[in-house]
Amino acid sequence: MEKLLIKNGSILTMSTQEPSIFKGDILVEDNRIAQIGRDFSTDEIDTVINAEGKVVMPGLINCHNHAAMVLLRGYCDDLRLMEWLKEKIWPAEDRLNGDDIYWGTMLASAEMIKSGTTTFADMYFFMDEVAMAVQDSGIRAALCQGLLFNDDNGDKRIKATQRLFDNWRGKAAGRITTMVGPHAPYTCPPDKFKLVMELAKDLDSGIHIHLAETTEEVNQMFSEYGKSPTKYLADLGLFESHHVLIAHAVNLSRNDINILRDLKGGISHNPVSNLKLGCGIAPVKELRDLGIAVGLGTDGAGSASTLDMFEEIKAAAWLQKNRFFDPTVITAYDVLQMATIEGAKALGLDKEIGTLEQGKRADIIIMDIQKPHLYPQNDICALLAYSANGSDVDTTIINGKVLMQNRVLLSITEEEVLHKAQQIAMKILR
Ligand SMILES: [Zn+2]
Repeated sequence: MEKLLIKNGSILTMSTQEPSIFKGDILVEDNRIAQIGRDFSTDEIDTVINAEGKVVMPGLINCHNHAAMVLLRGYCDDLRLMEWLKEKIWPAEDRLNGDDIYWGTMLASAEMIKSGTTTFADMYFFMDEVAMAVQDSGIRAALCQGLLFNDDNGDKRIKATQRLFDNWRGKAAGRITTMVGPHAPYTCPPDKFKLVMELAKDLDSGIHIHLAETTEEVNQMFSEYGKSPTKYLADLGLFESHHVLIAHAVNLSRNDINILRDLKGGISHNPVSNLKLGCGIAPVKELRDLGIAVGLGTDGAGSASTLDMFEEIKAAAWLQKNRFFDPTVITAYDVLQMATIEGAKALGLDKEIGTLEQGKRADIIIMDIQKPHLYPQNDICALLAYSANGSDVDTTIINGKVLMQNRVLLSITEEEVLHKAQQIAMKILR
């Protein structure tokens, strides 16, 4: 058995209702947390990490991503969502092959591991290559093939979903989980959507979907179906029968919010992407007041431009405070919960990840807080939420394996990945 001891850290477990930080050690055995506390017998330890003066906390969970879209970072900014998608992104994506997607996902994994993300939910294509990159990089992921039915390839995408489940569910030492990924209400007509729901039932799987990202989408659904996108999904019976991970949920009416009251699953709030595309502000406070799990996500770096979850943490807090002209409506600890345990709930993985607790998977980050922008050290949670950024992550451990230490990646050759990404970008964006 492989034993890893993290010593003398300031431990923030995220498992308590109120913030609580204590000095202590964490013992990891293979891929799980074996003990949290003080003064374990230290014989037969394979690796010791000294976390003196650092904060030890759960890895961050990026609930909505299209990881390989990092290849399109900076390619076309400052456009409207539909124009951006239809005229720029979709044609560029058509030029990507499986190998490109592998290297794109490796680049995204490098960025995520270096900024403290230990799990991401992905919706994309060439999912075999995405899964291979997850396997090689050591990160944890909930993968789904994006299912669109706005061209003749819908059936192919259904088959790709089946293949993803057959080949990759539970693989990479349990780091890969799989979901069914209908892209959005406006790309999935009712007959197709029913097929997708049946498929998810047969596979005993959760569903990952974009919902109510723009007012344009809401208007389109009203003119086509006479109802909001949320009501459209509710009338298909989706929310009663399935675990659903909803990305965005920005443009919701009071009625839509009520429909989501009993949501099994949760929401990925992606504030930076929403802000950059001018989509609006999600009613996060109202949704959380109903007890709905609201995690955080970056969305693809094609829109958000960054996979640094510390930016999402800040933006999520600022937006709700501003919506209500009231800084008390959401706290530093609230947004840290969103980035960890609420994200785990949204993914249906909260029994395994999202907090530091005995028996859970060892997905742990160690934050270096010995820096000018993190002093003086009064309220550590406020520092982490409002002052820290991704480059303050010193060490990242996923499934018990140290993947970054002293900011050096151990599972990814960073130089090679950067070089490949640049080559691919030159090829497809020419
Ligand atoms: Zn998205």
